[in-house]
Amino acid sequence: MSGARDGEGAAPGALRSQIDLHRDGVRTGDRRLLAKTITLLESRRADLAAVGQAVLEELVSYTGSGVRLGITGTPGVGKSTFIEALGLHLIAKGHRVAVLAVDPSSPRSGGSILGDKTRMERLSQHPAAFIRPSPSGGSLGGVAHRTRETLLLCEAAGFDVVIVETVGVGQSEVAVASMVDFFAVLLQPGAGDELQGMKKGVIELADALVVNKADGEQRDAARRARTMYRHALSVMRPASASWRPSVLLTSAVGGEGIDAFWEQVVSQRAALAAAGELAARRADQARAWMWSLVEEALQASFRTHPGVARELRRLEAEVGAQKTSPGAAARALLEAYRRR
Ligand code: GDP
Repeated sequence: MSGARDGEGAAPGALRSQIDLHRDGVRTGDRRLLAKTITLLESRRADLAAVGQAVLEELVSYTGSGVRLGITGTPGVGKSTFIEALGLHLIAKGHRVAVLAVDPSSPRSGGSILGDKTRMERLSQHPAAFIRPSPSGGSLGGVAHRTRETLLLCEAAGFDVVIVETVGVGQSEVAVASMVDFFAVLLQPGAGDELQGMKKGVIELADALVVNKADGEQRDAARRARTMYRHALSVMRPASASWRPSVLLTSAVGGEGIDAFWEQVVSQRAALAAAGELAARRADQARAWMWSLVEEALQASFRTHPGVARELRRLEAEVGAQKTSPGAAARALLEAYRRR
């Protein structure tokens, strides 16, 4: 990570030129400087992260024009195959495509579910594509914040389609749904078990359900799954007043259904925009993001407050042993926090 060394001991003038360099680089779509700026944002060193934030601040007015697309699904359902096919299809139509991953399960040592380098090989080599795995380690909240910031930087760099991918095994779907305009859930053809296994809440967030691997011997099973998911959707309350999610069949390996999927994205956009819902959705997302940043900072400040830190271990033990009630302990901690 050479970017991490760039800011070391920077004097004010050097700092200014470092910000200018990264800002202009991102603006001209320079993928190397885009990657370096993201590395700055992800840095655990406060001074480097601050440089990344300063660059982002100066680019905010260039963000917002992209199509933000979220894709989730269990491991093996075909996410990377699908995203590669979609990405290449969009590039052929003249788009520039960025792919970001949210994978809080990835341990710092590597070996994450999403992060391995062989994924999307053709797409990753294309000059009109930019692929970035999620920052390693960290909480879901932290990874999601960095991903949102990265999404904005990608838009500023001229990527007009930003795909955020996540593994459908945890809470990350909700985080991704809350940062995109269109949220798609990829499903296996052998669907019966999956509807039970997958949280109903995730289906409720979807703007489209995609039954992938609708090819070969699995074609009939995929059709049956489509019927079942259509039924499941019909008894759910739609998340949007102006868009009814549908169930699509795709074969990501064969490139079938990819075009129809993109048509859904385009139609949903038009429907939401006409109803004023797209702007409202983004405004809600931005406000929720602001609050989540405030809450995160407050919690960090609380936990590191010396008065709180002194009392915390004892009170936690007492609450665990039912010697103090959680309410009384919380009040005591908050009092300690207010006594500066
Ligand atoms: P991910 O873990 O969700 O990213 O899944 P991958 O894209 O890595 O795909 C997992 C496996 O399913 C790979 O062996 C793919 O070749 C295969 N696969 C992906 N899409 C399809 C498809 O549409 N049809 C078939 N038959 N296999 C697929």
